[in-house]
Amino acid sequence: MSSATPASVRASASGRASASGRASASGPASGRESASGPASGRESASAPASGRESASAPASGRESASGRASASGRASEAAAIPVEPPGDPATFPALQAEIRDLARERDAVILAHSYERPEVQDVADHVGDSLHLSRIAATAPQSTIVFCGVAFMAETAKILSPQKRVLLPDLSAGCSLADSITVEQLRQWKREHPGAVVVSYVNTTAAVKAESDYCCTSGNARAVIDAIPRDRHILFLPDMFLGLWLERVTGRKLTIWLGECHVHAGIRPADVERWRREEPGAELLIHPECGCTSQVIEAAGDDAHILSTEGMVTYAERSKADTFLIATEVGILHRLEQKAPGKRFVPVNREAVCQYMKLTTLPKLRDSLLHGVYPIEVPVEIAARARVALERMIAIA
Ligand code: SF4
Repeated sequence: MSSATPASVRASASGRASASGRASASGPASGRESASGPASGRESASAPASGRESASAPASGRESASGRASASGRASEAAAIPVEPPGDPATFPALQAEIRDLARERDAVILAHSYERPEVQDVADHVGDSLHLSRIAATAPQSTIVFCGVAFMAETAKILSPQKRVLLPDLSAGCSLADSITVEQLRQWKREHPGAVVVSYVNTTAAVKAESDYCCTSGNARAVIDAIPRDRHILFLPDMFLGLWLERVTGRKLTIWLGECHVHAGIRPADVERWRREEPGAELLIHPECGCTSQVIEAAGDDAHILSTEGMVTYAERSKADTFLIATEVGILHRLEQKAPGKRFVPVNREAVCQYMKLTTLPKLRDSLLHGVYPIEVPVEIAARARVALERMIAIA
């Protein structure tokens, strides 16, 4: 695992941030590479061919393209990665105390994504979604940022805070959605659609961001699309379900890359439908920030609440309802239960666990602070171009 990964491995140096780290760290590199599939197959799937013409049709009607098979293959491989064991809870208090002491000594701020393990969230200075945490990273007074999340998030923090040291406790913390497109594939896609505006979801590598005109989060994706003149052709990547939802709410045709997150793709419409039958009074909250712009959105219908992590927490706090169906990675349950005590949160799929988010354990976080591992570096030229797309995203948010 990452302990054997040289610290010099640069998350984005190869242009495949998380994948490059994981390739050497978690083993199944060759499988993962081949799972990405030949660009041509994925390209044809993503282009506005017959599958895209049926974008308003049921998801199954869009799944005949060959790129879908590649995406599913990657998802299956990612889903097969075992979840890191949780460790002994009896050791948590001492480890957390050690981590807090080290953070003070090393002038470090600890940021944790809402999908991290509860014990990691509990020791962090700030918990939230990737955009929220990146903004904190840019303004925090500490000289070191330890990002308990996945590689593209740490990269984003580094791009927005180039003068700070950014550490990722486990370099194998990747993202199947970010891995759905390489920078080479994006360049080829752009060549096939000259003049198109490229809008990338934030779950992408630094190199892909650098080839993009805009980044977006789930929270502002609609506003970003609306900000682009209607006569411009838009390439949207990498989450196909977010792209399809955007087509629906903006009334525009997009050319969509067929990527997906294995965790959210695993939350099936049948899961949502079953829980809606079993808990008819519950409110359905869908969190699209981390690729949860999956088929569940279409299955849920227009009365589902599509919310960012922070929006979901705020909504649960203010809502008069006492039961909520949660369609996203289950790590968020810890935060929801903390912020809205006394309310009931039911995951529509308890198996929606991101193995990458669970790689950061308390011992790894302690070691990250102790040994300064693993520093995230983004080549200056890539960072400069990626920053433009990110700053447009932040300006529109
Ligand atoms: S939940 Fe999905 S989108 Fe989020 S980090 Fe994990 S693999 Fe990536």
